[in-house]
Amino acid sequence: MTQISDKNKIALPRSSMPKNEIYQKMEELQKLGAHWHEGRTFSLVYHYNDEHTEFLKKIYELHFHENGLNPGAFPAIRKYEAEVVSMACQLLGAGAQGAGTMTSGGTESIMMAVKAARDYFFDKKKITQPEMILPITIHPAFSKAAHYFGVKPVYISLDSDYRVDLNQVKAAVNTNTILIVGSAPQYPHGVMDPISELAKIAKDHGIAMHVDACVGGFALPFLKKLGYDIPPFDFSVDGVWSISADLHKYGFASKGASVILHKDADYRRYQFYIRSDWPGGLFVSPSFTGTRPAGSIAAAWGALMAMGEEGYLKLHQEIMDTSKKFQKGIESLGLKIIARPVMGVFAYQAGSTEANIYVIADLLEKKGWHVDRQIHPECIHLMITPAHTPVVDAYLKDLKEVVDDAKAHPELAEGGMAAMYGMAAKIPDPTMIDQFLYQYMEDRYITGDQPMFFKV
Ligand SMILES: *Cc1c(COP(=O)(O)O)cnc(C)c1O
Repeated sequence: MTQISDKNKIALPRSSMPKNEIYQKMEELQKLGAHWHEGRTFSLVYHYNDEHTEFLKKIYELHFHENGLNPGAFPAIRKYEAEVVSMACQLLGAGAQGAGTMTSGGTESIMMAVKAARDYFFDKKKITQPEMILPITIHPAFSKAAHYFGVKPVYISLDSDYRVDLNQVKAAVNTNTILIVGSAPQYPHGVMDPISELAKIAKDHGIAMHVDACVGGFALPFLKKLGYDIPPFDFSVDGVWSISADLHKYGFASKGASVILHKDADYRRYQFYIRSDWPGGLFVSPSFTGTRPAGSIAAAWGALMAMGEEGYLKLHQEIMDTSKKFQKGIESLGLKIIARPVMGVFAYQAGSTEANIYVIADLLEKKGWHVDRQIHPECIHLMITPAHTPVVDAYLKDLKEVVDDAKAHPELAEGGMAAMYGMAAKIPDPTMIDQFLYQYMEDRYITGDQPMFFKV
């Protein structure tokens, strides 16, 4: 049994604390966090510019108390959600039949995609032991959905280009398969799965195909217009049944905004939940959550209207230009960009430097960069936003120093996060670190001083 000492138990204060003191204290505490505004983080925060952020905040504040659960009460919110879904459908190649809903984020969108497929194939084919085929690079929201909804995840490894291996996908289809999933692009390396080929396999077997465009949904359509080589990935591909796309990532909306889109309204019905005999009234809920913060729905609409196609084209051109500078600089140091990333999401390995990449990561953190480490293969992940445009040179200068240091001091691999990640990357049975991950989650709920895992 996990023990938590008494001294860490916090009770509701007896008397109220002055609001200005509370706020001041919170401002102090916020300073402990990663410096996203200075471009020091490469995930978690998607910041366009201060003016855009203030605009989103103003909209959010306007609808702060309203609830998207009951659109009858708040017609403005109903309109915003319907229009956000419609705009997303048009962007992602849905025909006249396309349908969808907003959700709180990529994970909820993915949950809904898996639930719709599960309920559809139970209804139509009485499949009671459903399976879905997932590239190993698919976002964990799918294994989470599998875990929650009783669908068996069948993982497929990658080909030499880091795309899901099609022969293995074909071999994995059986009579219980309800869904094949591909990413556009996948998170770890920014690589596109072969969407058209996956959709064809799905279609040939009469099963559903979902495209996870959480990261690419509000970027790839613009990159295509800008002339980048983007293979077909959306509803224009025959056989695609549903697509998830996050507004709160490359749509630069406020957090808590994503869309799940379906090929038609009949299929969308399998996502909904209704109950007509509840004493509390006739209950309908489009997605996972009950209460839905109207602020994030309204701010998503505001973001789309304020950016327009022109705004997104300009924004994504800037991101691509900045990404290119990062990639060129990284490669010039002998590090290696993995495979062929399609947008401002990519990863690099030690390459010809032969330094330990996790030592490089630790040393970068010492210089104030918040680094995302990855395993299989060992690499560092970057997600570029306009916040990084002013810091490319500073990053590359630090990276050069750090690579030299890492080469000179291989013994650093024995300590810091490098030791932990080095172990995680090499361990033959990954479940051996499960206990450690549970501990990590428990530690985040320890009050008071920062527990071991969260020391910076
Ligand atoms: C971020 C992400 C998700 C999950 O989205 P959340 O908004 O974090 O729940 C799913 N798929 C991909 C490819 C992602 O990058």
